[in-house]
Amino acid sequence: MVLQVDNKQGEPVIIPEIGMSFKSEDDAYDMYNSYAKSVGFSIRKSTTRYRADKTLYQKHIVCSNQGQRGQHSSHETLNENATTRAWCHARVQFSISREGIWTVQKVVLDHNHYLVSPNKVHKLRSHRHIIEADKQLIAQIREAGIQPAQVYEFFKQWYGGAENVPFSRMDCNNLIGRERKKYLPANDVQTLLEYLKNKQLEDPTFFYAIQVDEDDGRISNFFWADGQAIMDYACFGDAVSFDTTFQTNKFEMPFAPIIGTNHHKQTIIFLRKEECEKCATDLRENELDADYKSRYTNPIIHIPHLAMLKTAAKSYTRKLYSDFEKEFGEQFSFTCQLLQSEGTVRTFKVMPTRFQDEAIVVFNLEEMTITCSCRKYECIGILCRHTLRVFNINDVFILPTQYILNRWTKYAKREFYCEKA
Ligand SMILES: [Zn+2]
Ligand SMILES: [Zn+2]
Repeated sequence: MVLQVDNKQGEPVIIPEIGMSFKSEDDAYDMYNSYAKSVGFSIRKSTTRYRADKTLYQKHIVCSNQGQRGQHSSHETLNENATTRAWCHARVQFSISREGIWTVQKVVLDHNHYLVSPNKVHKLRSHRHIIEADKQLIAQIREAGIQPAQVYEFFKQWYGGAENVPFSRMDCNNLIGRERKKYLPANDVQTLLEYLKNKQLEDPTFFYAIQVDEDDGRISNFFWADGQAIMDYACFGDAVSFDTTFQTNKFEMPFAPIIGTNHHKQTIIFLRKEECEKCATDLRENELDADYKSRYTNPIIHIPHLAMLKTAAKSYTRKLYSDFEKEFGEQFSFTCQLLQSEGTVRTFKVMPTRFQDEAIVVFNLEEMTITCSCRKYECIGILCRHTLRVFNINDVFILPTQYILNRWTKYAKREFYCEKA
C-alpha cells in the first residue's frame, strides 16, 4: 500500500516508507523533498558511508531542523533556551546497491519542532529555487541597466510581496554574481578601447570620446554614438531628454542615454550602449513597422472631402495624422470673434462654447502666418484647434506647407539620405 497526501497543487505526495526504491540519488532526494514541502520542513544531505572500494552504500537525508516555532508557543519559549534546541531526528536513510539503486532502509517521520505553514514553506532552503523564467527575467532587467541591489526589489513587486518570492535575496545575488563573473574582463579599459575601435572599423560614422582621470589614469567618462544614432539626431534632435535613471554596474558608471522622439512619436535612443543594443534594435523595428504602415497604407479620414485633411494625411505619419485630425475636429466646438484688424493682420479671440478658456490668434493673411497664445505649434509642432478655427473662418482650406514640420512626416529621414548620397 502506498500512502499519499495531497500537496497544494493537488498532486499526490508520497510518504517515505521502508523498501521504496529509486533509480538515482536525485530521484530519492526529490521524493523526500516533495514530502518535506507538503509537510512543512526543509531537508539536507547528511551522513554518507562508503564501501572499502570507495563505492557509496549508505546515505542519510535529514530534516535540516530549521523549522520555526509556532505562533502559539510563547509558554514553551519561556521555559526553553532556543539556542540549545536538540537536532531533529526526522530522516530517511537510504542504502545504495552496487547497481546504483537507492532503497529506503529507515524512516523517522516525527519532528521535535513546529512545522512551517504551507504559505511560507517555499522560503525554506531545500524548497527555494530560481525557475528558468525568473533567471531570464533577471538577465533582461540587468541588461536594461537595473542595479543588482534593485533586482530583488523588482521581484518583490513582481510577486506581490517579499513573502511570495520563491527565492531569497541571497539566491538572487549569487546568481547575479555568477553571471557577472562571466563577463568581467581581465582589463576593463583595454577591453573597452578594443570594443570601441572595432565598432569604428565596422561603422566609419561611429564616434566616441573618452575622458581619463588625471590622478589614477582610469576612464571617468565616455560617450559614443553610432551612425544610426547620429542620423536620428540630425532628423529628430530638435527635442531631446537626458535620462540618468538607467544605472549600470559594469564599469561602475551611470548610463545616461539621450532620448528623443521620432516622427511616429516613438521613443528613440540617440546614443547607445552595447548592453542596450537589443532594446535599441526593438525600438528601431517599431520605427520600421510604423514607416511601412505610414507610407503604404492610407489613414481613414473621418471627415472626408476636406483638402486640409487630405494634405495632412498625405504628409504626416499615421500617428501624427490622427493627432492632427483630432485637433482639426475640436475646432468646431469653438466660437471665434474678431478683435482687431490692422492691414493684413487680423487678431481673433477663439473661445470654447462652454468653458472660460480662450486663446488669442493672430493671422497674417498676406504672409499666411499664424500664431496662437496656446503655443501648441511651438511646443508640439502641429497646428492647434484655435488656429485651425481661424483658418476655417478665413476660408483657408489648404494646410500651409510651412506648418507641416518635416520631422513629423512619413519621409522625415529622406532628406538625410539624399544629402548623404
Ligand atoms: Zn524536523
Ligand atoms: Zn491654440
